[in-house]
Amino acid sequence: MTTPSLLILPGDGIGPEVMAEVRRVIDWFGDKRGLAFDVSEDLVGGAAYDKHGTPLHDDTMAKAQEVDAVLLGAVGGPKYDVLDFSVKPERGLLRLRKEMDLFANLRPAQCFDALADFSSLKKDVVAGLDIMIVRELTSGIYFGEPRGIFTEGNERVGINTQRYTESEIDRVARNAFDLAMKRGKKLCSMEKANVMESGILWREVVTKVGEDYPEVELSHMYADAGAMQLCRWPKQFDVIVTDNLFGDLLSDAAAMLTGSLGMLPSASLGAPMENGRPKAMYEPVHGSAPDIAGQGKANPIACILSFAMALRYSFDLGDEAARLEAAINAVLEKGVRTADLLGEEGVTPVSTAGMGDAILAALDESL
Ligand code: NAD
Repeated sequence: MTTPSLLILPGDGIGPEVMAEVRRVIDWFGDKRGLAFDVSEDLVGGAAYDKHGTPLHDDTMAKAQEVDAVLLGAVGGPKYDVLDFSVKPERGLLRLRKEMDLFANLRPAQCFDALADFSSLKKDVVAGLDIMIVRELTSGIYFGEPRGIFTEGNERVGINTQRYTESEIDRVARNAFDLAMKRGKKLCSMEKANVMESGILWREVVTKVGEDYPEVELSHMYADAGAMQLCRWPKQFDVIVTDNLFGDLLSDAAAMLTGSLGMLPSASLGAPMENGRPKAMYEPVHGSAPDIAGQGKANPIACILSFAMALRYSFDLGDEAARLEAAINAVLEKGVRTADLLGEEGVTPVSTAGMGDAILAALDESL
């Protein structure tokens, strides 16, 4: 079997700082678990613009298409705010998502017990929470035509169009059912079939796909009711699948149930490649945090958890992903905190590398 390949794109701001800790974790799995990865590194975002005058060089794009998984840090920063829209750092990220056709965005909302007090909800509502939201990422109202601001009579009208084809719904639904099979075998599909035709089609297609997954318990919920249920009792869910717009809102709300931005990983998956692995990019939800960049304060856990998702979803190494997640849990249980996780008085924060040290030590203890 060929060595699995990873393209690392640290990006800007805290991206390179948190990615340095991921590199140490990757090396640990190579040294201690015999899991070698063929790792290459390249530029994206402002860093790529500084060198090439574009936020994503064509060679980097080509590499991203070839590897088994891309791991991205973060892009952007005030230095680049003045740039033309076409070369802004975020364009690099969007190009990767578009050209790799990453249509399924996976956003877990997982609450580590040690951080349950960080949630704005009561501790017993979030402690032990582990749900996954699958958001359709490349279609729907953010892309549908017609769109624009037009003039009708003597006033302007803003138009966006919600549009989904059966095949677009089918592929993201299959992705969500596959995930549910690897997890708790429960899937809730959310739309607004009561007021939107695209929602009626969504429900029909998801139900049809469900016939191929008899082991998965499928339910449907209107997205507004789903938002309420997420706040009321989120543990009722396992996997949620929803469209681009509702997924944007619901995944942000669900993620924040669990506390800090420095803890949130994500994955964006596309169609299977020849080797059966999906096209995939893994990245923390947070941005480049220019306010703390270069100070060794960033929490690397979101980026390390993104690598854990790569182990699970690209490389089918669920046990090793669980080992890494358990090591992070153990570190948090011991009270090790980066500055963003401080709540209790008298706790001294560790640096980005200090958090990396603690996670590596906990990984050693797991052997
Ligand atoms: P941000 O996520 O960078 O930061 C928001 C706040 O959270 C800041 O106070 C920051 O210090 C803190 N924070 C974020 N990640 C952290 C971590 N790992 N550890 C500790 N604290 C952390 O969002 P922003 O300030 O709105 O945006 C800053 C830049 O990042 C902008 O240029 C924006 O366009 C870009 N951005 C990029 C991405 C991406 O690359 N995917 C996502 C969002 C924003």
